[in-house]
Amino acid sequence: MTAGSVPPVISLRDICMTYASGEAEVRAVDQLSVDIQRGEFVAVMGISGSGKSTLMNIIGCLDPPTSGAYLLDGVAVSRLDRRQLAKLRNEKIGFVFQGFNLLARTTALENVELPLHYSEAVLPRRERLARATAALTRTGLANRLGHRPSQLSGGQQQRVAIARALINEPEVLLADEPTGNLDTRTSADVMGLFQSLNEAGITVVMVTHELDIAAYARRVLVMRDGRIIDDRSNDQRTIAHEEQARLQRAMVTARLDEDQGHVR
Ligand code: ADP
Ligand code: MG
Repeated sequence: MTAGSVPPVISLRDICMTYASGEAEVRAVDQLSVDIQRGEFVAVMGISGSGKSTLMNIIGCLDPPTSGAYLLDGVAVSRLDRRQLAKLRNEKIGFVFQGFNLLARTTALENVELPLHYSEAVLPRRERLARATAALTRTGLANRLGHRPSQLSGGQQQRVAIARALINEPEVLLADEPTGNLDTRTSADVMGLFQSLNEAGITVVMVTHELDIAAYARRVLVMRDGRIIDDRSNDQRTIAHEEQARLQRAMVTARLDEDQGHVR
């Protein structure tokens, strides 16, 4: 690093993750090194089993790697005890999953304020609700605060999960197949949200196996056998609001065709 340069928010060096699997052992992540700068929007691609989720869980401080060095915002993660690690994760990382992982019997507001109960300083209830309301407003759900997951569409549920991930104003948003359960239009909406959060300064790292979803990122990594086999910038990235407009036009055209079909 040269003097005055900004350190990466995520820095992985020679990271390995091995799992015992009967007699053999599986190297889910194999000698992987990568730097991600603050403000990047990175897509991680690769076939099933290539190690994407394992990598995300390491970056998210959910699983410590078997070996290697991980600096999160300059902090050596392996040196922290459990309590320090939980605190760092809570402050720096927001996690979004394919299956939303919301509590079923709980309102959007309560789902979103939940992480605040794990903060060091317990906030008063009024403050918690104000922050959860602000997070849900940011993801476009100001009018769904009292809804339970079953009363929301898939896209809305994912927006609740994203609001929950944002509640502690994390540096980094990690998303593992966030559009895996969503249709094309809803996926474009969620990618629009990610792009606007990224433009507001949040670093986004997102796993997807779909090319058209990776196309929203500014940088695309490809994994195979626990290694990064390709790493390139995506200068022609898809702009979500343009894609949303295109999909809207396509839908109107399809409806017109259908109507004419009925006339004929
Ligand atoms: P991806 O998300 O790209 O599909 P994963 O990171 O889930 O890949 O898995 C990478 C490899 O590690 C696979 O071979 C998988 O079977 C193995 N693996 C992942 N998690 C575990 C685990 N908890 N125990 C044993 N093997 C695992
Ligand atoms: Mg996976």
